[in-house]
Amino acid sequence: MEQLLYERLCGTAGTENVLVNEPMKKHTTFRIGGPADYFVLPHTKEELAEIIHICKEEHVPWYILGNGSNLLVSDQGVPGVVIQLYKNFSRITVEGDRITAQAGAANSVIARRALESGLSGYEFAAGIPGTVGGAVVMNAGAYGGEMKDILLEVTVLDENGGFQFLKKEELELGYRTSIILKKGYVVIEAVFGLTYGHEEEIRGRMDELKNRRVEKQPLEYPSAGSTFKRPQGYFAGKLIMDAGLRGFSVGGAKVSEKHCGFVINAGEATAEDVVKLIREVQRIVFEKSGVHLETEIKFLGNFKTPGSTSVRSNP
Ligand code: FAD
Repeated sequence: MEQLLYERLCGTAGTENVLVNEPMKKHTTFRIGGPADYFVLPHTKEELAEIIHICKEEHVPWYILGNGSNLLVSDQGVPGVVIQLYKNFSRITVEGDRITAQAGAANSVIARRALESGLSGYEFAAGIPGTVGGAVVMNAGAYGGEMKDILLEVTVLDENGGFQFLKKEELELGYRTSIILKKGYVVIEAVFGLTYGHEEEIRGRMDELKNRRVEKQPLEYPSAGSTFKRPQGYFAGKLIMDAGLRGFSVGGAKVSEKHCGFVINAGEATAEDVVKLIREVQRIVFEKSGVHLETEIKFLGNFKTPGSTSVRSNP
């Protein structure tokens, strides 16, 4: 059966785009994660739809990956097929004040294209180290901006293998959530509506935000960004710091001393180290402040630590 699956995947995406036992630590910003049984890189939406169709027919779980910048992958790896929509799937077109980007386009590249085209609105996302797919599905945001502010429409692949156009109003975009996430759709392409601006001002805003990130965030270490969602009325980082957990570590995983809202891979951290650290932080913060910290990062694969959610891969 496995040989048949492999042959079918290669027949669709091309042998060079189907990797076997691919270490996920190469594809996550945490630099953590065991192997994916199969790692597939489609070039077109038709290839993508066919790969998912094959997974369903062969009863193999599948998971969509962007740049892996919001993800903790288990040390045991990922059973089934990881489908990465990234560099092979990253066309960007600019028409007037609209930018259309395929799901795998990087936010940094779109921000640069917007700047070159004298378009304002994407500056807030320039430093979010993920793809359009990852940003839309999570309604990524930073420094007062969020995807919701600039998205016009999205093309998705639905659960029946059909392509749908969804207008912004249909996306139910909220704090780090969307209907796409709830329904398990796959983002294919997004259209952003920006405004004409002055190149110097756009560049200035991007530089300002970049400097704020460099100053405040532990960018010198692998991480998945803010580990926890912002609890209403609080800041996760402050709660963690006030609970005395600055620099707290489990194995190679550590609460960043620079920004307590970030769990970092301070050196050879395992996924289990990160999960144990997260559970301890949640327990201690709850004990000290009564606030439950919900994780923002996604988990993929099976984890041994009790209470860990083993995460959605699609049946
Ligand atoms: P991945 O991590 O690959 O995937 C995240 C989730 O999206 C997964 O559930 C995956 O299945 C799903 N997904 C990915 N692509 C698709 C698709 N095409 N269709 C359907 N589902 C898809 N986030 C912020 O919001 N604001 C920040 O300021 C910010 N700063 C960060 C700073 C650092 C240093 C780091 C490491 C991370 C930061 N993040 C931030 C987190 C992360 O970059 C974002 O959540 C980003 O949008 C994730 O995109 P990705 O392509 O890496 O997604």
